[in-house]
Amino acid sequence: MIMSIGIPRAVDVEKRSFDRWVIELEPQPFARPLSCGGCHARVEPVTGYMTRKGTTVDPLYRLGRGVSHENGCVYDFDAQVGQLHQRNVGVVEKDGDLYVLVLNMELEGEQAASKDAKSGPRNRLAFSRVGIPPLHPTLRAASEIAKLLRKFEHDPAAKARFRARYGRRVIAWENFCFDAAHDLKRLHRMLSTTRVEVDHPRAVVGRVEHVRQRDGSLYLAVRESDPATRGPVRSGEGVPIKPVLRPSSGSALGVAVDETVVGYGMWIPWTPPSGGPHYVTLWLGAHRGAMATL
Ligand SMILES: [Zn+2]
Repeated sequence: MIMSIGIPRAVDVEKRSFDRWVIELEPQPFARPLSCGGCHARVEPVTGYMTRKGTTVDPLYRLGRGVSHENGCVYDFDAQVGQLHQRNVGVVEKDGDLYVLVLNMELEGEQAASKDAKSGPRNRLAFSRVGIPPLHPTLRAASEIAKLLRKFEHDPAAKARFRARYGRRVIAWENFCFDAAHDLKRLHRMLSTTRVEVDHPRAVVGRVEHVRQRDGSLYLAVRESDPATRGPVRSGEGVPIKPVLRPSSGSALGVAVDETVVGYGMWIPWTPPSGGPHYVTLWLGAHRGAMATL
């Protein structure tokens, strides 16, 4: 049986909007009845719990009995994911209740271009236009899924409905798509321990914190502090981790600070020989990397 996907926001009878976390407060701060944060459907608050299989279910608002969302409601997960699938047929496959993003290496723009010097369709993947590649279908689908999951506040039950597939390997969504603000330590650990031969493309979503003028590199914001240590997010060895998107052309990408981007491709860990931060880097335009604003 599939878990219901929580509605992350509700509006109370006094028209005040509440996130899902207030459900756990004692006393609950809202005045019932509650309606869906995206439409007028009546909803009920449900406290978080752990399923028998050990999956965490965050607190959520659930539709009242016999009630359904109004057409076009942003929090109607089934409708939203259905439309996402329709828009990305050929890249997102439906397998029962699961949606599988098919990864490929078509982003090898420069290699593809050199193999086929004539302007075949693959050449459209070559990276020009101030370094921003045309939105590749895989990247577009990945960013749409990331956006949808963000709308549902990274609900584990929503994430559990997605997979990525690379060749024959099926990858859990959390091992494919990372939020720079939350999953950086795990990403760094995975990149540092996975052998290159068995690696696969990954997507990292994050807010641009700094654009380096010298080469147009985009530094993504990491969470201010590690909840465990209350200090900066650091690797296992206590070294700070920095996620960076680097244009291989060395030219500006036309992306401004505070924009949210998704970088897709082969992320690589790198530490300067002289020491310093651990970088997790995606080279754009070469080494199979591409980027889109979210
Ligand atoms: Zn709704």
